Amino acid sequence: MPTNRTFTMIKPDAVQDGNSGAIIKMIEEAGFRIVALKKTQLTPANAGAFYAVHSERPFYNDLCQYMSSGAIVPMILEKENAVADFRTLIGATNPANADERTIRKLFAKSIEQNAIHGSDSDENAQIEGNFFFAQTEQF
Ligand code: GDP
Repeated sequence: MPTNRTFTMIKPDAVQDGNSGAIIKMIEEAGFRIVALKKTQLTPANAGAFYAVHSERPFYNDLCQYMSSGAIVPMILEKENAVADFRTLIGATNPANADERTIRKLFAKSIEQNAIHGSDSDENAQIEGNFFFAQTEQF
């Protein structure tokens, strides 16, 4: 059963470039309600924990270094069919393959510095949201 929530974070490249506001505007205009939002920075260890599923991939160390290199903006979002609709809104991992008018097509620099994260399943959306937000911070 699909749930109506997903998790996202605006990644360091997009925050650094001043694109947070434009990205949040696209998210809200696509019909997502912001349930929780903050600005924070991951330590390399926390980035490693968040991306533990990728620990065997050749780009894992680079990914952890990049994801802890600057501020991020994590959010929990709500919309019917949230996980799938949000993956459509952000576009393919590699911006070269992303559809026109997706967030990654507009704002990503590379397959690594790709502007935004979006959970790939309802289960991961819940785990990832809990990684950043306490239940009491969600409304
Ligand atoms: P996503 O679900 O679209 O974010 O993609 P993945 O779960 O496969 O990868 C997680 C993140 O790792 C991506 O969003 C990129 O930031 C990074 N990444 C994925 N593939 C590569 C790659 O081939 N090289 C590098 N350097 N980074 C990658």
